[in-house]
Amino acid sequence: MADPILISRLRCPECGHEEDMEMPTNACLFFHNCAGCGVRLQPLQGDCCVFCSYGTVPCPPIQEGDCCHG
Ligand SMILES: [Zn+2]
Repeated sequence: MADPILISRLRCPECGHEEDMEMPTNACLFFHNCAGCGVRLQPLQGDCCVFCSYGTVPCPPIQEGDCCHG
């Protein structure tokens, strides 16, 4: 299996600010404060982390088909 992509670009739904973030491989990032407007992002219903909801790349556990919450 290919190595998971670890950089995801988060896009804030409030202000459109984009930020490249390195994702931890062993944990999901549940909250993230937008550097643009300061809003606290949290996952949409059904998503395990902010990368799955707002990032260009889902989190590593999802990429590997083994979500940490499942
Ligand atoms: Zn924002």
